[in-house]
Amino acid sequence: MATFGIDLGTTYSCVAHIDDTGRPAIIKNRPGDDTTPSVVYFESPENVVVGKEAKAVAKIQPDLVVSLIKRQMGKSFEITVHGQTHTPESISALILRELADAAAENLGEEVKDVVITVPAYFGVAERNATRKAGEIAGLNVLSIVDEPVAAALHYDAINTGGTKTLFVYDLGGGTFDTTVIKVSPEEIQVVCTDGDHHLGGADWDDRLAEYLLEQFQAEHPETEAADDEEFLQNLAAGAEDIKKQLSRMQARRFNARFGGDTSQIEVSREKFEELTSELLERTVTITQRTLRTAAERGITEFDDVLLVGGSSRMPAVSAALESLGLKPRMHDPDLAVAKGAARYALIESIKVRSPEDGEAPAEVVEEVAAQLNVPVEKVLGLVGKRVATVVPRAFGVKVINRVGGREHYTVEHVLRANTPLPAQTEPQRFGTAYPNQVEISVEIWEQSGSVESEALEDNEHIAEGLITGLPPLPENSPIDISFEMAADGLLMVHAVELKTRKDLHIEVQIKGGLTDEQVDAARTAVARYNVSA
Ligand code: AMP
Repeated sequence: MATFGIDLGTTYSCVAHIDDTGRPAIIKNRPGDDTTPSVVYFESPENVVVGKEAKAVAKIQPDLVVSLIKRQMGKSFEITVHGQTHTPESISALILRELADAAAENLGEEVKDVVITVPAYFGVAERNATRKAGEIAGLNVLSIVDEPVAAALHYDAINTGGTKTLFVYDLGGGTFDTTVIKVSPEEIQVVCTDGDHHLGGADWDDRLAEYLLEQFQAEHPETEAADDEEFLQNLAAGAEDIKKQLSRMQARRFNARFGGDTSQIEVSREKFEELTSELLERTVTITQRTLRTAAERGITEFDDVLLVGGSSRMPAVSAALESLGLKPRMHDPDLAVAKGAARYALIESIKVRSPEDGEAPAEVVEEVAAQLNVPVEKVLGLVGKRVATVVPRAFGVKVINRVGGREHYTVEHVLRANTPLPAQTEPQRFGTAYPNQVEISVEIWEQSGSVESEALEDNEHIAEGLITGLPPLPENSPIDISFEMAADGLLMVHAVELKTRKDLHIEVQIKGGLTDEQVDAARTAVARYNVSA
């Protein structure tokens, strides 16, 4: 079975496989590009266009175009176009469908078994939504892999020898993350990870577009350009172009036209950096936080600092990291993640046919090698690597706090972010809240912001359970709660009331995610569309 790695990005997506030389290679899309804009244009109730053309239409018919959908993954979010309701999963599925169809057409073989990448700090709900998007697209999702892990797998494929400690700075179109990873001959191990879900190249574009508008308005004070959707979309597209060009040049000019008014707006790299310095500073703060977390785990030196994600091409990024004493270098910023995912897909395809935790049977490796038409040693070299990750975000339980006679709820975290997986916490002691309690409700919450915080609004309720049938217990009767997370991120919670030993096992099923029936219905709906590029 051929396997594929898909980098499903916020702004651009990309597909790779292991080619017949045994190396990860990008599969070009229909227009012949390496990457495809993650943009969907609902041309009619039957036709959907994905990619470059869709992005171009965003300027003219913004109401029919959806972009940056990855930012909504895992949330209850709906959008209605042509009277049909879509979810982040179904829109992502349309992107995946086009990526898979174009790759299949290009290679002349079916694209079915895939690995899809996600930012390392994606929580359980976002990962689950990504997997479902793949299922809706009719794909067989072998696994979900963290983007920095994929980047490190690709790094490892091209840099041989010894154990290396890497710092991955990944600034994409819509998300940012930092990850410290150890790569040894046997294993890829995530040490810690951090990030901001809502920070990426698109924010740099927005700042520049705002500036262009201000300049235009300053020259034409009477203009109503700010109310014109087409003009604004034009500015947005122009801003992205200028931004990219300013990564190589010192200054660019933008020609703006609305009605009879025109302006030539000059933007220097310096001005652009000034407009966006606060955004860059946010990445620096997160980088410093990651360095501190790594230092707590004894890591203060890095063999390589890898820049991943298209936005890391901005020269200000390298300069900021250098000022922190790091020595960054570009690591195939647009393609490394997809290429690493292709390698991971190969690892997974062998793992699914091997006994649990056991060696891959020789015949499976031989079969895969024969299918790929590459030597067995080459396949063994690519797949002989374990991947160990960490808990992406903290998990805890909701507790009542009494301060000055007033009650309020907070979240007490039990399983901390960056604990190596698989993880098993010690039982943590809690107490019943009221006298004569005969049942205990256990609510599981997951950190939702990028920093751990006990405030309820910084956490997301993901599951709950009830211990019932207790004799009336005195207030503050002890309950022990422990958390267990498997290597694949499946979370189990065990709560036990110590007097009766009555207990509760919660296997966290994602609240609010699509049900199997909804996935089936969406798959039928997506399959009905004509998807093209
Ligand atoms: P990714 O999600 O990794 O594909 O990142 C895409 C983002 O990188 C988009 O916001 C692009 O505008 C941005 N990008 C691509 N090339 C450049 C460049 N040369 N300079 C600055 N930003 C870039």
